[in-house]
Amino acid sequence: MHMVIMDRMELGEIETVRERASALAAELEPLAAEADASSELHPGVLAAVTASGLSALTVPAAWGGASEKVDPLAVCVVREVLMGTSSHADSLFALQGIGSHAIALGGSDEQREEWLPRVASLEAIAALAMTEPGAGSDLKALTTTATADGDGFVIDGRKSFISNAGVADFYTVLAREGEQYSFFLVPANSIGLTVEPLPPLISPHVIGDLGLEGVRVGGGARIGAAGEGFRLALSTLATFRISVAGAAVGLADAALREAARHAGERVQFGRPLAELGPVAALLADSWAEVESTRLLSYEVARAAREDPLANLDRSSLAKLAATEAASRVVDRCVQVMGRWGLVDGSKVEKLYRQARPLRIYEGASEVLRLGIARRLVAEVGAGSQR
Ligand SMILES: Cc1cc2nc3c(=O)[nH]c(=O)nc-3n(C[C@H](O)[C@H](O)[C@H](O)COP(=O)(O)OP(=O)(O)OC[C@H]3O[C@@H](n4cnc5c(N)ncnc54)[C@H](O)[C@@H]3O)c2cc1C
Repeated sequence: MHMVIMDRMELGEIETVRERASALAAELEPLAAEADASSELHPGVLAAVTASGLSALTVPAAWGGASEKVDPLAVCVVREVLMGTSSHADSLFALQGIGSHAIALGGSDEQREEWLPRVASLEAIAALAMTEPGAGSDLKALTTTATADGDGFVIDGRKSFISNAGVADFYTVLAREGEQYSFFLVPANSIGLTVEPLPPLISPHVIGDLGLEGVRVGGGARIGAAGEGFRLALSTLATFRISVAGAAVGLADAALREAARHAGERVQFGRPLAELGPVAALLADSWAEVESTRLLSYEVARAAREDPLANLDRSSLAKLAATEAASRVVDRCVQVMGRWGLVDGSKVEKLYRQARPLRIYEGASEVLRLGIARRLVAEVGAGSQR
């Protein structure tokens, strides 16, 4: 009985979040084509996302956020809705959490009070700087250093493919501190910090490289204790990785709607495409994948609410399943659209390009598979007791 009441309450809250995200998506619709084609922050999208107040979902309530802890299910649902309309808006929303969560989890009172309320209201834009030219999936290979100097630290290195580079107000930078790894809060106006643009990506993104040359930060700039970098990075992924699955579901769903509309209207051989067996199969298989990965994402996001780290492998599983499914679905949708699926700037063509990075960032599929398989073998081994 209690469970039912809880579920109803939860359903109500989540549906309210979905309605707010849908209202924002409707407002963004006229801006989406322009924003998603640009690697610069779109002022109209920024204004609309700010006014929606949804960024509060990415920060705990103690510092201006929406719920006591960041709710992975709410973030997942917002990303699902936004990604169907604009990857630019999806990224702007998600990175407020991804770029600031280390501070929420391990930051000092000063750091939290200075930055998090502004992250929640989108007055300050956040970014997470971990990847380097020589360190992608193998993050422990990073070479950026933070060296104690007087009463502060000096940071030297280079960060690569950093979302929000150039528009962020601060960067949470993962660096080596001696033999350990730690996060540092580096304000964007720090002397010695430079931003370099990237060559255009197949799906434009606000992104760039960061140069850090003798960047001096205060003694209070470290986030948490020395050596807490990977714990904070893992905890950030544990809360936000599942939301990539949400974005993938939203993308696939939007592509499928386009393809289904087309297949219902276009007639070939005297019948709508949707009634030609192989085309019907493309649509039906896609719908099955969208619905099953949506349910998986919600279920895992709900579990991650209770204990994000204990459910990280399942978040990886859902991210893997949903992003790989989204790629298959959007590929089929291009096929169903025929020649119109290839037109530059058409909705399905845009979604086809936007699906691709989802399988690379926040844990590339191959790397996720390694951890998932390890977990599976451990669980089966633990259960059999032979
Ligand atoms: C749009 C976009 C936004 C990004 N934003 C950010 C950001 O905000 N902050 C940030 O820090 N980074 C960001 N990144 C970088 C992203 O995190 C990395 O691209 C990602 O970690 C993968 O690293 P890599 O590209 O160096 O690929 P690599 O690690 O070089 O991997 C290349 C290929 O090898 C495979 N591979 C690697 N290791 C193994 C292994 N052990 N076993 C099997 N296969 C393996 C991978 O799966 C992949 O297919 C972003 C990237 C993109 C595309």
